[in-house]
Amino acid sequence: MSTPADAQRMEKIVSLCKRRGFIFQSSEIYGGLNGLWDYGPLGVELKRNLKNYWWRVTVHERDDVVGMDGAILTHPEVLKASGHVEGFSDPMIDCRTCKAHLRFDQLIEKKGVKQCPNCGGKDLTDARQFNLMFETHVGAAAEESSIAYLRPETAQSIFVQFKNSLEVSRKKLPFGIAQIGKAFRNEINPRNFTFRSREFEQMELEYFCRPEQGTELLEYWKEERLKFYENIGISRANLHVRNVPDEERAFYSKGTYDIEYDFPFGRQELEGVAYRTDYDLSQHQKASGKSLEYFDEETKQRFIPHVVEPSAGVDRTVLALICEGYAEDQAPDEKGKMETRLVLRFHPRMAPIKCGIFPLLKNNERLVAKAKEVVDLLRPHMFVFYDESGAIGRRYRRQDEIGTPFCVTVDFETLGEKDEKLRDTVTLRERDSMKQERIAISDLLAALSVRIA
Ligand code: ATP
Repeated sequence: MSTPADAQRMEKIVSLCKRRGFIFQSSEIYGGLNGLWDYGPLGVELKRNLKNYWWRVTVHERDDVVGMDGAILTHPEVLKASGHVEGFSDPMIDCRTCKAHLRFDQLIEKKGVKQCPNCGGKDLTDARQFNLMFETHVGAAAEESSIAYLRPETAQSIFVQFKNSLEVSRKKLPFGIAQIGKAFRNEINPRNFTFRSREFEQMELEYFCRPEQGTELLEYWKEERLKFYENIGISRANLHVRNVPDEERAFYSKGTYDIEYDFPFGRQELEGVAYRTDYDLSQHQKASGKSLEYFDEETKQRFIPHVVEPSAGVDRTVLALICEGYAEDQAPDEKGKMETRLVLRFHPRMAPIKCGIFPLLKNNERLVAKAKEVVDLLRPHMFVFYDESGAIGRRYRRQDEIGTPFCVTVDFETLGEKDEKLRDTVTLRERDSMKQERIAISDLLAALSVRIA
């Protein structure tokens, strides 16, 4: 259960996201569009770091996974075969008192009577199925034949391109196809900031295997995915694995784990890892009439592979990173008086800006020139930020608040004015411990690279 303190923490996080340029409401100057969000200058960096790291460990660091990037507009037959046209819906109810549209599972129940969570009204319509897919028309004529859907998940284009990807990559089972991309769901009640949006991104892997390997691979991928979250800085204590019970699982799934995170608004799903058997490929083979079988050269057998699918949400993970990193601690101000410090303790790997670079004074040409040399040295290797305005302490605080793990200050010692031995050294300050060390400029790149890799 989330407490008032949790709600307050969430409010502060939402406000920081806007104030520092992580996440803005979409179309804000026109009053906003519900369930849609835009990522600002820092949000886009955080999101990219997450996606790049997922791609690196899922595709580049493995021999058995290839990538793809499918179209968003999807042929209706694809989504008929997958079951989305018929069944991708949530039961919806209207409250006749306050006119709210509600998902059935959001109703509250008091003394056995269902009520509207907004106004407490008991005058509710019957539940009806509401399909979550966005429909559009392709081509100039808006007639039935040109209907297309905005994909509700990235997975289907992977299944539909299974044969092509297999042929060009010449992989043997087990092997996977990975994709990162936008997905769209007309959620009845978008809420909890970006957690439930109408447009979002997914990072999905379809890992194809022999039927007898499925159960073991489900366990393997669950563990791999937990490691992933730990490697991006989410503590294991805040992650939970839910073994989804039979009655909640899709009928074709032989096992599903939800990886959940303790958000301030409660424990919620970050990712689903599902053993989907051969359901998707079989459906597309049946509907398209094209063989999606795999030919095993050793045994000379032909069969439809089974698949294990780790399916993660980019936006939910970005939100988890921000919630996980958000902290308030005490730090001395310019005069040594303790003040509350706001800090985003991102793992250096995820941090939008890796290093802030400051000349001690902005009106000293030699300090500025030297600091810009440091910028030029680091910039080809990492995203750095040059800042010369305000007292150094203030500049540190600004970087703390956006999660920059390291700051470098160029001072008079760097210029060799105080001690010749300190010429071409700088102060390197670490965000969490606030500890400072003196380091040679020539060692800086190597020192930072190992910490952000
Ligand atoms: P939920 O039960 O929360 O609606 P789901 O089980 O329908 O999620 P999946 O279909 O398994 O979700 O999608 C895989 C992942 O895609 C989810 O774990 C989540 O991270 C992400 N995702 C799904 N729907 C949304 C959404 N509306 N907004 C943001 N991310 C989403």
